[in-house]
Amino acid sequence: MAGRDSVLIAGGGIGGLAAALALAQKKIASTVLEKAAQLGEIGAGIQLGPNAFHCFDRLGVGEPARQMAVYIDQLRLMDAMADGEIMHVDLGRDFRARYRNPYAVVHRGDLHGVLLKACREHPLIALEVSSEVLDYEQDAATVTVRLGNGASATGRALIGADGLWSNVRRQAVGDGEPRVSGHTTYRSVIPTERMPEDLRWNAATLWAGPKCHIVHYPLSGWKVFNLVVTYHNDAPEPVAGEPVVTEEVRRGFTHICERAQNIIRHGQDWRMWVLCDREPVDRWVDGRVALLGDAAHPMLQYMAQGACMAMEDAVCLADALASHDRLEAGLENYRSRRVLRTARVQLMSRAMGDHVYHPSGPHAALRNAIMSAKSQAEWYAALDWLYGGSGLD
Ligand SMILES: Cc1cc2nc3c(=O)[nH]c(=O)nc-3n(C[C@H](O)[C@H](O)[C@H](O)COP(=O)(O)OP(=O)(O)OC[C@H]3O[C@@H](n4cnc5c(N)ncnc54)[C@H](O)[C@@H]3O)c2cc1C
Repeated sequence: MAGRDSVLIAGGGIGGLAAALALAQKKIASTVLEKAAQLGEIGAGIQLGPNAFHCFDRLGVGEPARQMAVYIDQLRLMDAMADGEIMHVDLGRDFRARYRNPYAVVHRGDLHGVLLKACREHPLIALEVSSEVLDYEQDAATVTVRLGNGASATGRALIGADGLWSNVRRQAVGDGEPRVSGHTTYRSVIPTERMPEDLRWNAATLWAGPKCHIVHYPLSGWKVFNLVVTYHNDAPEPVAGEPVVTEEVRRGFTHICERAQNIIRHGQDWRMWVLCDREPVDRWVDGRVALLGDAAHPMLQYMAQGACMAMEDAVCLADALASHDRLEAGLENYRSRRVLRTARVQLMSRAMGDHVYHPSGPHAALRNAIMSAKSQAEWYAALDWLYGGSGLD
């Protein structure tokens, strides 16, 4: 394990690996401590806004990241009752010129793989598996973590990138369990030939229906389609990745149009999650300890920004540490630069669920009237706060 000058990072997900790479770019050594016996990601898709590509460049993985992506033409919103388009956002030349990068979809495994390869090749990054961080102690110069494998590790700082159920957060913030949203998400990745031919669109497509929605887009050079279907069924308990049969998935979607229901019939090997998030908090720092990614600001996936925000956190954290002599001042600078932006995404993600993805009756009609009236220029203006600038200042 690396020495006491190294920064300890709890968690080797997208956020933890991005943090290690960002620190390495600033010549800061780190040790990633991952709970699982192997480093990896679940086999599903992820959408990446232009802000993710700004991060890839800053992490030194711009080229391999661009190679693994499918560049989609549109974000398309469909009415799952009327079977018609409500609106779309063009992601072509004007979008790319405005935000200086594309919008893309990637396989999570590919994204994690690009980050992991770069970490493995970097001499300033050590990766340890089977190393769950249980808790920490700190003094004026160091932080020591106790690991689930009986060992301990000491570094000059600890970054809690240990996800939704973060042990580091439990100690640093102590705000109890995440909030169970009552929304159940089912995921499946299918070969492209199983996807209904008339829906093989080069778009991230969202079918919005009463208390339910369906998302699909192509992945991995169009070899597969990612299906994510969500049902607001007031599920009371958190669930992560349990296998479930197609018949159960279909149960929440019998009220929507035939074409949208049909997508679910083509799914296979479904897995289920009951989604959680948290209220935004601004206490991400405890002395030499700071939170990052889902540990800091877990959000519903409705703005497709959780991983993008984790990578932005990583770049900002490294900038802040490199530009402050005192570690605590660097962590405080990081926190103050990230809290409001991530809180906005957390709260807007919830609002999107209520007002765009799941309304019914007059509420849905109002959604359609407002959203279909906007021009492309108005959509771009509405997205400027998220994709304009670099998100990293
Ligand atoms: C259905 C769905 C769709 C999504 N779609 C998108 C999207 O399109 N775009 C987007 O940007 N985001 C999306 N997200 C969000 C995104 O997946 C997460 O925000 C992102 O993966 C968070 O990364 P992380 O590294 O912070 O946490 P995690 O991915 O949860 O990684 C945490 C890591 O820490 C490890 N760990 C946990 N506890 C400990 C411990 N105590 N000690 C050591 N290791 C520990 C875990 O094993 C894991 O490897 C989606 C999420 C869901 C649920």
